[in-house]
Amino acid sequence: MSDHDIDPTSPRMAPKPEVTKIDGRELKPSTLMMGYGYDPVLSEGSLKPPIFLTSTFAFPSAADGKRHFEGITGKRPGGADGLVYSRFNAPNQEILEDRLSVWDGAEDALSFSSGMTAICVLMLAYASQNDVIVHSGPLYAASEGFVAKVLAKFGVTYVDFPAGATREEIDAVLAKAKAQADEQGGKVCMIYLESPGNPTNALVDVEAVRASVDAAQLDCPIAIDNTFLGPLWQRPLDQGADIVVYSLTKYVGGHSDLVAGSIAGAKKWMDPVRMLRNTMGGICDPNTAWMLMRSLETVELRMNRAGENAAKVCDFLAQHPKVEGLGYLGMIKDARQQDIYDRHCKGAGSTFSLLLKGGEAECFRFLDALKIAKLAVSLGGTETLASHPASMTHLSVAEGRRAELGISDNLVRISIGIEDPDDLIADFTQALEAV
Ligand SMILES: *Cc1c(COP(=O)(O)O)cnc(C)c1O
Repeated sequence: MSDHDIDPTSPRMAPKPEVTKIDGRELKPSTLMMGYGYDPVLSEGSLKPPIFLTSTFAFPSAADGKRHFEGITGKRPGGADGLVYSRFNAPNQEILEDRLSVWDGAEDALSFSSGMTAICVLMLAYASQNDVIVHSGPLYAASEGFVAKVLAKFGVTYVDFPAGATREEIDAVLAKAKAQADEQGGKVCMIYLESPGNPTNALVDVEAVRASVDAAQLDCPIAIDNTFLGPLWQRPLDQGADIVVYSLTKYVGGHSDLVAGSIAGAKKWMDPVRMLRNTMGGICDPNTAWMLMRSLETVELRMNRAGENAAKVCDFLAQHPKVEGLGYLGMIKDARQQDIYDRHCKGAGSTFSLLLKGGEAECFRFLDALKIAKLAVSLGGTETLASHPASMTHLSVAEGRRAELGISDNLVRISIGIEDPDDLIADFTQALEAV
């Protein structure tokens, strides 16, 4: 027996119970991120989880193999109670999913190879032929495209409503969707929200949507893309959403070095999606899952700093003579939007739109002059990014629809990072001078 071998009969080999409370005090997510869901004893004492590069898992016995497959195939409720095959699940992804659940107060979470894989598998799991999806607008362009172009191939239609709609307006939209579903011979299969909307930061009243869905007695989940404010500044499950959706590529990953996605919610809502993920694949890979666990240890620090920086930068920009306006949640002008913000959000985030006096030419001069902020799409990373939605992320959106969504030619989208705030202000000062 070599020095590093552990005597399997030693009490040191016994896995420790998960600690989520001390003397009745619930531990905070930022504390749990360092160890929750992982016991070093099971991996040679390795403080950090090893990356499990394996496609398949050995069963202790044939009977165990049978039992695991009964869980995977749904023959026995409760899912798999052991690992089977890496398309279904694996240790790094399971630990990641446990930790993601903690942030949103969810019972269960599923990880995916991208935000869009999460969204597509989620929608496919719930939509049947001739169903209707109700969604807020604007959505992330690829999400909107998946509903309007891909699901349309299977006879699924949609009804959309503007973010910020009132309870009465949402009631009317649901009535219209129900009538449309009846006519098609299907059902309303999902309410899909995105709040705040990109790039205008318009908020959806999730509490009003919950009340409307309950009043209409619709038996379908309310899902919400929480990429812009989650997991720190908004917990939509607390406002009555059933499923929270993330592009982990953004604030959660936070270093602009990976692509991944997730969904979280009650087990009953996750199960159909898990079954389809088992069939299709699309689970996050172990290396990316490991990087995300690294990222989750600092997500609160990073988001807090980025949020504080954004507040300082926006204070500066709001006073600048070349600035026409800001779409920043810390400076809402509309009473209805402020009311939603006060009920739903714990922070204003660090992604906002900057409206310059002028049009595309002025925006391009500003973007080309930036020295610290990089000219790139995406958001939520440690570095500050700036882009021009009308000519980049939303170029494929028809001009009329773009105007309707408030995506004007003089709009620059900015995602503030964790740099020194005064350095960022110096950069924006000189770039505005160049306009
Ligand atoms: C980026 C993004 C997505 C898509 O996520 P990927 O990880 O790029 O697939 C979906 N929704 C929102 C709001 C996003 O910002």
